[in-house]
Amino acid sequence: MTLETDIKRRRTFAIISHPDAGKTTITEQLLYFGGEIREAGTVKGKKTGHFAKSDWMDIEKQRGISVTSSVMQFDYAGKRVNILDTPGHEDFSEDTYRTLMAVDAAVMVIDSAKGIEAQTKKLFQVVKQRGIPVFTFINKLDRDGREPLDLLAELEDVLGILSTPMNWPIGMGKNFEGLYDMHNKRLELYKGDTRYVDFEQGDQVFALNPFYQQAKDDIELMTEAGNPFDAEAVLAGDLTPVFFGSALTNFGVQTFLDSFLDYAPEPQGHKTTTDEVVSPTTPEFSGFVFKIQANMDPRHRDRIAFVRIISGEFERGMSVKLARTGKAVKLSNVTQFMAEARENVENAVAGDIIGVYDTGTYQVGDTLTTGQLKVEFEPLPTFTPELFMKVAAKNVMKQKSFHKGIEQLVQEGAIQLYKNYQTGEYMLGAVGQLQFEVFQHRMVGEYNAEVVMTPMGKKTVRWIKPEDLDERMSSSRNILAKDRFDNPLFLFENQFAERWFADKYPDVVLSDTPFVE
Ligand code: GDP
Repeated sequence: MTLETDIKRRRTFAIISHPDAGKTTITEQLLYFGGEIREAGTVKGKKTGHFAKSDWMDIEKQRGISVTSSVMQFDYAGKRVNILDTPGHEDFSEDTYRTLMAVDAAVMVIDSAKGIEAQTKKLFQVVKQRGIPVFTFINKLDRDGREPLDLLAELEDVLGILSTPMNWPIGMGKNFEGLYDMHNKRLELYKGDTRYVDFEQGDQVFALNPFYQQAKDDIELMTEAGNPFDAEAVLAGDLTPVFFGSALTNFGVQTFLDSFLDYAPEPQGHKTTTDEVVSPTTPEFSGFVFKIQANMDPRHRDRIAFVRIISGEFERGMSVKLARTGKAVKLSNVTQFMAEARENVENAVAGDIIGVYDTGTYQVGDTLTTGQLKVEFEPLPTFTPELFMKVAAKNVMKQKSFHKGIEQLVQEGAIQLYKNYQTGEYMLGAVGQLQFEVFQHRMVGEYNAEVVMTPMGKKTVRWIKPEDLDERMSSSRNILAKDRFDNPLFLFENQFAERWFADKYPDVVLSDTPFVE
């Protein structure tokens, strides 16, 4: 196989959904089709599906999820499929946003009874901004849900994306009979031993079934007034193909997978800071770190940098250049992720994700290249935290593990660290409360460092140019601090405090992002 054909058979995507819509269940089915697990339901020691805090805080369990699910790879129908997991909880959206930068397509799972929920909407916005194709799976047809036409209308009204149904449910809940599959021109039957029949047979079997008539009427309406399937519009992210099914009963998932692999894009190029695009078939290797995770495997206290390969091919032991530092690093200890185990990489090309063992070399967003390729990929989105806590080691004797833990978790991007400019006191910033709780838990579980956290409430972060800074600007209405790169900034209590500062120092420009050259 040439490198180019090998690259073109990759499909790399993420599943986005609101918690409980069925992402885990579908992922398991997909791995099952890929032969990666013997029985769906065995991947994760997880979970009721609820992100109840008590479940979530069982950190070993959480580790268990991460180990198997951050990246999953399997072969199916001649394709090599990479699924990237995205945490559903909104407090982890930062992680999710970065992961979405590393995929070529997204699958959006919707609960048929609930329609488009808050988290789906947020994640969809990111996907839309990236302009990547979105495939929709409407799940839980074995239960009573909303009218299919209604759900399609909602895609358009709430998300602003045109949709085209690939198949259509015949009834739902107790009356669920199966799918009228326009795309594959067959009926897929939910009940009984026969799985597929052609349309003619269907007309006979369901001659008197009102749900069948209803489905046919709906489809007729869609054919006249709806959007026809258009592969190009799908690739452009302007049209989402919609599939119906029931992941729990493994119904319609394979039909979805088959079409998805046909129409999802092969690995795409990636934009650089100078607005060029590095194409996947560029012979030199390039890639970027989109996620760093420490202690994935509790038995080895290691840290892994997840790299999306953008071009070329990975070779064990290859030397790459880290664009940020200009230094060469050797990629010797690298893994790939099959469902039940990590494996050494045998063959990884553009589109794939590799896990590089990291001893503190990498940062999220880093570009790696070989040869003459001198590029840096566009930066990943970052989020400015709004919630703050003071943090200190509970036991003074454990300062060392405390610092190590904080440093590693901060590098991972799990939480942001700030230091009080004058006192050096540590402050943590997060987008959501749960980030603090996971931080606290991981400090104990992974670094044996108990921490004391004192809430500081909501703050607005505003950076100041180092040359503009005068320490006397710090007052009771703000906190002067440094971020972890030592850039000075103010934490303001509220807009009033910010305005007061602006009035007092009219010549000083503050920014909601760091001033970097
Ligand atoms: P996630 O939070 O999106 O990963 O959702 P899960 O896959 O964990 O599913 C949430 C809950 O919905 C679990 O109790 C699943 O068993 C259930 N579920 C998932 N798919 C279906 C389905 O097709 N039908 C029904 N009835 N329940 C489902």
